[in-house]
Amino acid sequence: MGKVAVAAAVVCTAAVCAAAVVVMRRQMKSSGRWAKAEAILRELEEKCGTPTAKLRQVADAMTVEMHAGLASEGGSKLKMLISYVDNLPTGDEKGLFYALDLGGTNFRVMRVQLGGKDGIMKQEFEEVSIPPHLMVGSSHELFDFIAAALAKFVDTEGEDFHLLPGRQRELGFTFSFPVRQLSLASGTLIKWTKGFLIEDAVGQDVVGELTKAMERLGLDMRVAALVNDTVGTLAGGRYNNPDVIAAVILGTGTNAAYVERAHAIPKWQGLLPKSGEMVINMEWGNFRSSHLPLTEYDQILDAESLNPGEQIFEKIISGMYLGEIVRRVLCRMAEEASFFGDTIPPKLKIPFILRTPDMSAMHHDTSPDLKVVGSKLKDILEVPNSSLKMRKIIVEICDIVATRGARLSAAGILGILKKLGRDTVKEGEKQRSVIALDGGLFEHYTKFRKCMESTLKELLGDVAEDIVVEHSNDGSGIGAALLAASHSQYLEIDNS
Ligand code: ADP
Ligand code: MG
Repeated sequence: MGKVAVAAAVVCTAAVCAAAVVVMRRQMKSSGRWAKAEAILRELEEKCGTPTAKLRQVADAMTVEMHAGLASEGGSKLKMLISYVDNLPTGDEKGLFYALDLGGTNFRVMRVQLGGKDGIMKQEFEEVSIPPHLMVGSSHELFDFIAAALAKFVDTEGEDFHLLPGRQRELGFTFSFPVRQLSLASGTLIKWTKGFLIEDAVGQDVVGELTKAMERLGLDMRVAALVNDTVGTLAGGRYNNPDVIAAVILGTGTNAAYVERAHAIPKWQGLLPKSGEMVINMEWGNFRSSHLPLTEYDQILDAESLNPGEQIFEKIISGMYLGEIVRRVLCRMAEEASFFGDTIPPKLKIPFILRTPDMSAMHHDTSPDLKVVGSKLKDILEVPNSSLKMRKIIVEICDIVATRGARLSAAGILGILKKLGRDTVKEGEKQRSVIALDGGLFEHYTKFRKCMESTLKELLGDVAEDIVVEHSNDGSGIGAALLAASHSQYLEIDNS
């Protein structure tokens, strides 16, 4: 070999070596990246753990807080609000009634023709999404928007609906925020949740505000009942099934209501009949306990939220937040493990960009190459290429976050059953307890629902066969209309 040839061979070898080193470095960097991502994943799994023993502690804490909230005003994180609903629907209700449901992403208007023993003759509804600027604007604007949508809906009332001549239309108003009821048809807003924040509405009578907005539009309608969605769902559930004793909402937010014995409500002693029942709106979204498995992601999400320190149970369970928790985990993986490569996808930095329905779609992806995950990454986060390994990790994050939420909601239900003494088998006594469930999360997030139901079975053991979870589809709207019917101003005339 000549000198030139030797030199060329040396240069070539060196170049090959250098290239090999670059490849090796990349591989090491890549395996280091996966190892770091894996470590973040395992830490998340550990912190979100909900072994049965922990769930029992959560259920016990829920029962204790329920007692405390019933004992005195401000006695607990659980407000345990009195609903003034002491007469749940019987199935004999008759006539045309309207309902309006405000409490999350969408608001619904509906009308129903009740035929007494013949049941529901006809119902119609319409869904309107609330423009985001109205969720944080003024009370006046929000109620004007709602009243206008309602008036438009009333205009489309067809011939299948019959209002007796000379009568005023009556409405059940489902308002799913914490309200201090003054009577069945009036109440003041305690605080906003779920992304709403309209300062001037706090402390106002929400029925008064709605009525004024309707008057401004010339809409002649009387609000006959103001109810929380959980109370509405309970009423709707009871109309169909007399064994319904509680209702739970798993939607944008989460909450529960149940039927309490009036004598077990010390803070209202003297104001309530000694016998009889009263529906209690727990506002369980505000539950918190040292037993709750909270992570750094939850803490920061809470600190940066519109209502820091509040609604902690809601922030780890409900539809508004699950996707956001996943996003925060991905953010940390992007920053500390270069999960998406050397740069962090700018879209990933946008709070709430990953919505729970998208999370759910990724979680349910059964294709071998997880193509739904791939397309969500592309469409939402603008990550054009994702490896199967990456997609698998994302599905696992979704699973960990959803499982924690589902198992904790089962623990909450056990807390209610314990409070009512329905968590054990009673000698010689067969009592069935039905819990009416509703909300988009429960309805559409199949893995969440299945996990919640199986966890409840796991926790209940022998009693499981006597406890039934029933989907009460849009029970809150119907329920509000039913409560308007059972509290109609024409009731006495109709019954005489
Ligand atoms: P709201 O709670 O706003 O009254 P819904 O009960 O309809 O309304 O619940 C809507 C919520 O349900 C959404 O905010 C979302 O978090 C959740 N959701 C809706 N569809 C899905 C889905 N396919 N998968 C998971 N969650 C869903
Ligand atoms: Mg709702």
